[in-house]
Amino acid sequence: MITINHFINGTYTEPAGGEYLDGFNPAIGAVYSKIAKGNAADVQKAVDAAKTAFPAWKAMPAEDRFCILNAIAEGIEANLDELAAAESRDQGKPFWLSKTEMQRASQNFRFFATAAVHFASESHQTDTRAINYTLRQPVGIVGCISPWNLPLYLFTWKIAPALAAGNCVVAKPSEFTPHTAHMLCEIANKASLPPGVLNVVHGLGSACGQAIVEHPEIKAISFTGGTATGKHIASVAAPMFKKLSLELGGKNPNIIFDDADLNEAVKTSVRSSFLNQGEICLCGSRVFVHTRVYDAFKTALLQEVAKMQVGDPFDEKTHVGAIVSKPQFEKVLSYIELAKQEGGTVLCGGHAVKPNGFENGWYIAPTIIEGLDANCRTNTEEIFGPVITLLSFETEEEVLNMANGTAYGLAATLWTRDLKRAHRMAEALQSGIVWVNCWLLRDLRTPFGGVKQSGVGREGGWEAMRFFTEPKNVCIAY
Ligand code: NDP
Repeated sequence: MITINHFINGTYTEPAGGEYLDGFNPAIGAVYSKIAKGNAADVQKAVDAAKTAFPAWKAMPAEDRFCILNAIAEGIEANLDELAAAESRDQGKPFWLSKTEMQRASQNFRFFATAAVHFASESHQTDTRAINYTLRQPVGIVGCISPWNLPLYLFTWKIAPALAAGNCVVAKPSEFTPHTAHMLCEIANKASLPPGVLNVVHGLGSACGQAIVEHPEIKAISFTGGTATGKHIASVAAPMFKKLSLELGGKNPNIIFDDADLNEAVKTSVRSSFLNQGEICLCGSRVFVHTRVYDAFKTALLQEVAKMQVGDPFDEKTHVGAIVSKPQFEKVLSYIELAKQEGGTVLCGGHAVKPNGFENGWYIAPTIIEGLDANCRTNTEEIFGPVITLLSFETEEEVLNMANGTAYGLAATLWTRDLKRAHRMAEALQSGIVWVNCWLLRDLRTPFGGVKQSGVGREGGWEAMRFFTEPKNVCIAY
């Protein structure tokens, strides 16, 4: 049994209340770890540690901060296999995918380590009368709260820029997947991150997460998770005038025009539909296909999906691992039932899977559904599992209306060889990210985030460094 304790002031610390939660291995549906059940007292200890550490961390030369953050990146790389194995055991995703994500977690640190030394601010000459310059000062103590789908990747995506900008952090990973964040703390210690600069508390969002959001000395909240949770967090943090960055849910369109390279579109759509069991906020869960190529696309997609293996995350042939938790497993299955009630036809999957030797795990076959109205619940609510719907369209206007017809606006993908159409569509789609003839091609410098109910603010590159700093204008008269 693995024990996951808080990490406060550079030391693994037992929870103040002495209570632990069960941590499950979704591949076998069994408890394998106990997780500190944090409360407001634990968060207070973390804040106290952060407060003590802040003046020295803020004053540290950027180049020294660079060296420490870069050493954390190297530490992640040096422990890649162990971290990846822990991630797969905790989350259920295939081991090969975890390895990629651990590399990306390392890249997050490397990228923001360099940001620490390159970040600069503006100056404005006011005619011949004055010079204005902007100081970018760390916010102070910041709260970072991350979800269970890409655990270490999204955790590091927040804490790396927060630290690079000179803040001290109180962070909480999802209670479902805290293991790699826990391991990262030891890596941070080995990289000589001073005690108190990074504090990690564990436990339920409603108690431990809530205590972070409510704490008056935590000045900014960077949150990634569901839209309902984001709404609640905003309602607590906004009246306290905290800085807020919210990366929330999505119901992303994947649009295939009749002039698309169908082979590429099919190949990538398999990934954009089912990678990580469809548990990626950027997955294209609504696939719109032009009527002229609908049948060809559908046939080819079904052929590819039929080859996908569902099962043991540690089998290198596995494409689709386990769903992260029993509640999520049940939620996804209930949406498949809803889709049937709404008149959908299940073309493949549509059921749980019980792989040999893993009968108690939470597996769902990749599921493709057609015949649903664009406005039904299945097509407007986030399912966050290996379930996609196929819809047909004739015109650009029609597909735009459907694509934009949800409360979400995170990412959109479109497949076309027509450059003018690509520009028109990219401009008109209501979403924070548009991929043309690709999916999940990431550049860490680009703004990352959504519009409408997919979030507020952007992460990535300078956007993240700006979020984690407070700009101050200084005006000096000549
Ligand atoms: P949740 O909103 O349930 O949880 C996210 C985090 O918030 C967890 O650490 C959770 O803790 C914590 N939390 C829950 N309640 C509170 C609270 N009252 N105060 C503070 N923290 C709280 O999301 P999931 O973990 O279920 O993740 C899936 C969701 O994340 C999907 O909707 C997905 O679209 C979204 N997501 C968005 C991304 C984006 O960039 N836009 C990227 C990845 C995912 P606990 O787990 O203990 O409840």
